[in-house]
Amino acid sequence: VSKRLEGKTVVITGASSGIGRSCAFEFARTVPRGGLKLVLTARRVDRLREIAAQIRDEVGDGVRVLPVQLDVADPAQVRGFVAGLPEEFRDVDVLVNNAGLVKGVARAPEIAEEDMNIMFQTNVTGLINMTQAILPIFKARPDGGAGDIINIGSIAGREPYAGGSIYCATKAAVRAFTDALRQELIATRIRVMEIDPGQVETEFSIVRYYGDKAKADAVYAGCDPLTPDDVAEVVVFVAGRRQNVVVADTLVFPNHQA
Ligand code: NDP
Repeated sequence: VSKRLEGKTVVITGASSGIGRSCAFEFARTVPRGGLKLVLTARRVDRLREIAAQIRDEVGDGVRVLPVQLDVADPAQVRGFVAGLPEEFRDVDVLVNNAGLVKGVARAPEIAEEDMNIMFQTNVTGLINMTQAILPIFKARPDGGAGDIINIGSIAGREPYAGGSIYCATKAAVRAFTDALRQELIATRIRVMEIDPGQVETEFSIVRYYGDKAKADAVYAGCDPLTPDDVAEVVVFVAGRRQNVVVADTLVFPNHQA
């Protein structure tokens, strides 16, 4: 795996916590030398800077890390992000579309408009904004293009549940978009892949309950959720396959959720 990822430039969205943060560490640990470049993006740039420093402490200068403040829901920011990438990080090889959130638990008639909008704008439009902005870099490569798009969906996109209709709908939209894009790019060396986690213990539930940590902790009480590292290992695995191997669609959940 590490040989194939040498020299690659990887952009991760939502890298300030949870799965995205773990992906940053997992890529760095897998390719500690060999010219890996990581572009870590999220809105909380202070956190990204801390993570960049931690990676530097752990693997030294073997991995170049660029923290960039970016709200994926803002198309102008996304365009500006790609246009403003420093030369060293411009030749992106892998895009991990991970940024996403759930807000509130409510039956469909009671869903707050604001919550609905932020979920669609982040999970769906944000992911599409990033994809559209990065694809020209992939397509500029010979033979129709090359590169990897790894979308983080959710088991919620396959198995909708009461009280989560909007979040589930956003993740079903991610699936549909991912599958259609894969077909559009079938004759290229651009791989479009999706990883759908089940329950993972991150800040996800804290966001869901508007910052109420006690409510979030209760979600994980008595079960044995995945860690964000578990998912990050799968992300790096699919990115590290031989170019002709497309691990198109992966469902990964803790045993109790089976
Ligand atoms: P976290 O809340 O820990 O991380 C979410 C990340 O997304 C944060 O880094 C956050 O950064 C970022 N983010 C949110 N909104 C935006 C935005 N507008 N622009 C840029 N970044 C944004 O949760 P997870 O790690 O669990 O979530 C990661 C992905 O995994 C999401 O897509 C989620 O839907 C999916 N998932 C999670 C599961 C779980 O059980 N935890 C299960 C299945 C899927 P910041 O706030 O700094 O912008």
